[in-house]
Amino acid sequence: MKFADPLGITCPHCATLTDQRVAKLLSLEAVCPQCKCSLIETGLKMRQTLDEGHSFALRVQMVLDLEEHLSSKVEDAELDRVKTLRDLAVVVERRLAPGGAATSQAISVVRSVAERYRREASTPNSAYCDGVLNFDIPLLEAIAPRRWNKVNI
Ligand SMILES: [Zn+2]
Repeated sequence: MKFADPLGITCPHCATLTDQRVAKLLSLEAVCPQCKCSLIETGLKMRQTLDEGHSFALRVQMVLDLEEHLSSKVEDAELDRVKTLRDLAVVVERRLAPGGAATSQAISVVRSVAERYRREASTPNSAYCDGVLNFDIPLLEAIAPRRWNKVNI
């Protein structure tokens, strides 16, 4: 989703309605011109809204890619349980021949997909994030940890 820019914001402190730039709000720098209070809560709520949409889209897209790779369909109920890269690896592992190597094979399939997404999530201004992928944090945090850096807003 996209916010109208500028966006009409009612100050939570003094109730003054003002137009604010979306970039200022998202970078948490917006200030109420009337009472000079920070509009940080509004910016954080907007980030959360954008993150929710982004997380949902990311999960669906990654599962579609894995379905193609595995030639196997993932049911919605299974998709809904995916919160982390580890959950994705479980989805993949269920579709591999059982055996000692299935777990590590599933991890490596998910890692290669995730690394591609992480490269795509990095903008020209933010250096490609090439640290170790964390399999146990929310998908969006693992793929786009720097999405709210100032240069990306
Ligand atoms: Zn105010």
